[in-house]
Amino acid sequence: PRNGFCIANSTFYSKRKPLPLPANSSLDVTTFISSQTHRGTTAFINAATGHRLSFSDLWRAVDRVADGLYQDVGVRRGDVVLILSPNSIFVPVVCFAVMSLGAIVTTANPLNTAGEISRQIADSNPKLAFTTPELAPKLAAASAGISVVLDRVEPTRGVRVVGILSEMVNKKPSGQRVRDRVDQDDTAMLLYSSGTTGRSKGVISSHGNLIAHVARYIAEPLEPNEIFLCTVPLFHTFGLLNYAMATVALGLTVVILPRFELHEMLAAVDKYRATSLVLVPPVLVALINRADVIKTQFNLSSLKIVRTGGAPLNKEVTKSFIEKYPTVDILQGYALTESNGAGASIDTVEESQRYGALGLLSCGAEARIVDPVKGRVVGVNQTGELWLRGPSIAKGYFGNEEATNETIDPKGWLKTGDLCYIDEDGFVFIVDRLKELIKYNGYQVAPAELEALLITHPDILDAAVIPFPDKERGQYPMAYVSRKPESNLSHKQVIDFISNQVAPYKKIRKVAFIDSIPKTPSGKTLRKDLIKLATSKSNL
Ligand code: AMP
Repeated sequence: PRNGFCIANSTFYSKRKPLPLPANSSLDVTTFISSQTHRGTTAFINAATGHRLSFSDLWRAVDRVADGLYQDVGVRRGDVVLILSPNSIFVPVVCFAVMSLGAIVTTANPLNTAGEISRQIADSNPKLAFTTPELAPKLAAASAGISVVLDRVEPTRGVRVVGILSEMVNKKPSGQRVRDRVDQDDTAMLLYSSGTTGRSKGVISSHGNLIAHVARYIAEPLEPNEIFLCTVPLFHTFGLLNYAMATVALGLTVVILPRFELHEMLAAVDKYRATSLVLVPPVLVALINRADVIKTQFNLSSLKIVRTGGAPLNKEVTKSFIEKYPTVDILQGYALTESNGAGASIDTVEESQRYGALGLLSCGAEARIVDPVKGRVVGVNQTGELWLRGPSIAKGYFGNEEATNETIDPKGWLKTGDLCYIDEDGFVFIVDRLKELIKYNGYQVAPAELEALLITHPDILDAAVIPFPDKERGQYPMAYVSRKPESNLSHKQVIDFISNQVAPYKKIRKVAFIDSIPKTPSGKTLRKDLIKLATSKSNL
């Protein structure tokens, strides 16, 4: 063992502190977090309006909303509640309230089309949705007559409004609520992810999974006076678990930007003296390209750290950023929806000197590197698929045993679909993504979903969707299409056909025609061959 980091039985163990897990099996994550708060005064600030929620306001609001949901709407343990909302200080309130009842939070990307949201609703079957008046019509189109709680009073059509959050927050609790027993093993969240293959699926995260995530922050707390500016979406694991939950346990302040816009983000750093900016890597490129103008317009002297994750951070980008902003350090994290925050992270400036590393394995996590062809476990500095195990690893996919069994082995190892290696000091490096998943601006795009749409076109015989590299966005979806004989379907027609049916970030932005899609003998698309073809010099 080197500083606690050790390799035994071909397993890498974390060199971080041991994970302090509560022994009480009957504990919900809301109670766990609310019993931790001990530091600051302000929990959340709405960057657009300046509205502040103190920790006492937050916990009072959570209690009252839980009461309203229980008494007035009839939400009970095991019910699913969908949150369809832009980033807002109400998202953590609803989330904590729902989980305190033993009910289950699910989220959807507000950019998704009504059709996409409707498929998710059919899959998770929510009893209730929390949304805004602006998004209510989309929800109505997705699921006629669904019951909603709106954030504020405003006329909406097509949905059944059963509560107004701002009113619930102001109403004294009835005192009638019977607290259901909630176990650490109960499901707390269903966030959607396509995982290594196929369509988007609900990832079953238990209270215990989320408690273990928060416990990592308790074991290795962040600087006590950090003020975060969160620009990453709260419907996604990265934003929700870290900047709506873990920071609350540490008593830290998070400034929430309702909608991502570069100028608004910088104005908010300036106004709220943010010390830590949370973003996806593509935003760094914009900050580098416009550095000179940005520095004359905004006072960014409070900013010490940029925290990034969710998609690859390019070494060159890191270097250029540090050149342009020498007083700011970049710390990155790597995790998956399926790992509930566990993975690897760079937590200190010293660790960030290890250029290109994802970081050290998280507290309590174990890792294996497995040769993807031979299925053999390999050692230090050898590349293979990263497998992760630990108390945060999700229990599986909702209603999809087959996908669960493919992704999590019987001993609890999560197959990440990422090609990695771990060096002799325990730093994890990512080399490539083995799985199909495309990340556009940090957003998940599942090729299987786009392929299923493409083959409904009467002129298309077969299709495969792959990631195409892009400096600004990370990657975008590209389609290889095999047309029916005599069809003269154009590139633009393919692009338009898809863009009419999906959220803007899922649009196909490049098309190539091919006689037939290359497949393995068992019928699996040879995506790596297509990626090689697409990125070969002549095609770039
Ligand atoms: P998601 O479930 O949306 O968080 O996606 C997880 C996937 O995003 C991982 O399996 C990686 O492929 C990718 N990812 C997340 N964080 C990083 C990172 N820091 N660097 C490279 N890829 C990342």
